[in-house]
Amino acid sequence: MKIFCIGRNYVEHAKELNNQVPDEPVIFAKPDTALLKRNKPFFIPDFAKDFHYEAELVIKICRVGKNISRKFAHRYYDEVALGIDFTARDLQAKLKAKGLPWEKAKAFDGSAVISPYISKEKFADIQNISFRLDKNGETVQKGNSSLMIFPVDELIAHLSQYFTLKIGDLIYTGTPAGVGPVSINDRLTGYIEDEQMFDFLIK
Ligand code: ZN
Repeated sequence: MKIFCIGRNYVEHAKELNNQVPDEPVIFAKPDTALLKRNKPFFIPDFAKDFHYEAELVIKICRVGKNISRKFAHRYYDEVALGIDFTARDLQAKLKAKGLPWEKAKAFDGSAVISPYISKEKFADIQNISFRLDKNGETVQKGNSSLMIFPVDELIAHLSQYFTLKIGDLIYTGTPAGVGPVSINDRLTGYIEDEQMFDFLIK
């Protein structure tokens, strides 16, 4: 399976990192070894100093598709989860400054936290789902999919021009404002609407 991530899909987050609001989706990928499931702890790697959480809604693909039109994109996903796109922000800044790819800062082992999945049928509108991340009991990120620059169906249409989507592929749809660092012993708890989706420790 493949893991796609969308960068800068919320205006306020693009601004907080001094990035331009993009005119087409910013896409990168992670290997399946990045997945961190079942509330396992995140062990801070030693190749960088400044690891940031980015809480994101995640869409799971349920059909094979290529060149999917926006109109039919909703048929290609059936489940939603909450994830964290962990980022070595200091290393990413170095790579960006040199114009190099981000993988070492974004795609390392454990960098893609994933919660259990919820059927999309549970939501009246995929583009009106609220989610939040608490760090040590305090809310640090609050988002709603209505604020995405590129909505889910458009992301699927765009991605599938380049990549065949397959069953089980995941799309991390971008993070709202409020990203920040983690330290050892922090506890991260994520919610979709009022449902707790994950709860794990930083080690
Ligand atoms: Zn992200």
